[in-house]
Amino acid sequence: MLDSLVKDNIKGLLPYKVKEYTDIIKLDANENNSAAYLLNEKLCEAIMGLEINKYPDSDCTELRNMLAKELNLDARQIMVGCGSDQLISLIMSAFIGNGDKMLTHIPTFGIYKIAAQIEGGITVEVPLNEDFSFDLSSFVEAMEREKPKVIFLTNPNNPTGNVIPREQITKIVQLSKGIVVIDEAYYEFYGDSVIDLVDKYENLVVLRTLSKAYGLAGARVGYGAASGQLMDILYKVKPPYNVTSLSQVAAKVCLANKKVLHDTVKETIEERGKMINSLKEIPNLEVFESHANFVLCKLNDAKGVYDYLLNNRVLVRYFGEEGPLANCLRISIGTKDENAQVVGLLKKLMSS
Ligand SMILES: *Cc1c(COP(=O)(O)O)cnc(C)c1O
Repeated sequence: MLDSLVKDNIKGLLPYKVKEYTDIIKLDANENNSAAYLLNEKLCEAIMGLEINKYPDSDCTELRNMLAKELNLDARQIMVGCGSDQLISLIMSAFIGNGDKMLTHIPTFGIYKIAAQIEGGITVEVPLNEDFSFDLSSFVEAMEREKPKVIFLTNPNNPTGNVIPREQITKIVQLSKGIVVIDEAYYEFYGDSVIDLVDKYENLVVLRTLSKAYGLAGARVGYGAASGQLMDILYKVKPPYNVTSLSQVAAKVCLANKKVLHDTVKETIEERGKMINSLKEIPNLEVFESHANFVLCKLNDAKGVYDYLLNNRVLVRYFGEEGPLANCLRISIGTKDENAQVVGLLKKLMSS
């Protein structure tokens, strides 16, 4: 009976399962392992002052004001979400209906396609080049052919770590007759952004998150910036009270203590360079340049290597045997110790 009730576009979906491990070096989800506990005392203090019996500020006023000041935008141009995942869903629910097209590149973050499918949308995927660089001309060709209502570009991209030059993004925004979303979840590890362009182009949305560089994945806080006109539309579909007061407080503590961000990002970028150099010495392993807090590797037996690492209490990301990420593993940059351990294990396994 339930099968006949569920919407057709939902039938083919699988639940997004995340397996939990204890006592493990977690390098599978691009979290900031160096930031663990650093702000806990300040967080506790801030939480002590909360009236948890009251609903949170529905529009995250203080948080948005802080972000607006930092980004040199109007608070009206900012929305905070329960993770940027929620903002991705809200963009789809505002602009994508049955049969509408969403265009993105492949490989990329898997949530865009799922969020579009939930709304009945059709995802069209333009392959990146063999070395995972962005192929502007085939992307523009696909834009002209498919006329997508929404475009998603991830910059830097997850899971490849490549970036799209600013001129190419600008060109796509100018050519597009639809909404263009630039997901800058890893912006802090790269340093280049198009967030300044939201004043200039009314169809541009830039997404950021506090889950990665800021080390706040557990609080689920992301934000989007866009023109005021575009935000007025997105606010129509935002659920009330979508960010808990605990999360709002945590985000404000993080934004007010930028030193943790700067120090851990600096360390992560250094460690990323070291990790890439070490991995380059390993035979039968190809490692790609990265502008984020992870590196992507290609090897002969990715599943075997994944299992070997897991047996040694190290969790990385494996993408299955199909598609452009076959034989790839993504390793998040962790603390110095964690990185040394994963490199040591790989050297031991693959050099023998
Ligand atoms: C991790 C990630 C997100 C999700 O971030 P949340 O704010 O934790 O929901 C969004 N986009 C990309 C590309 C990511 O890698």
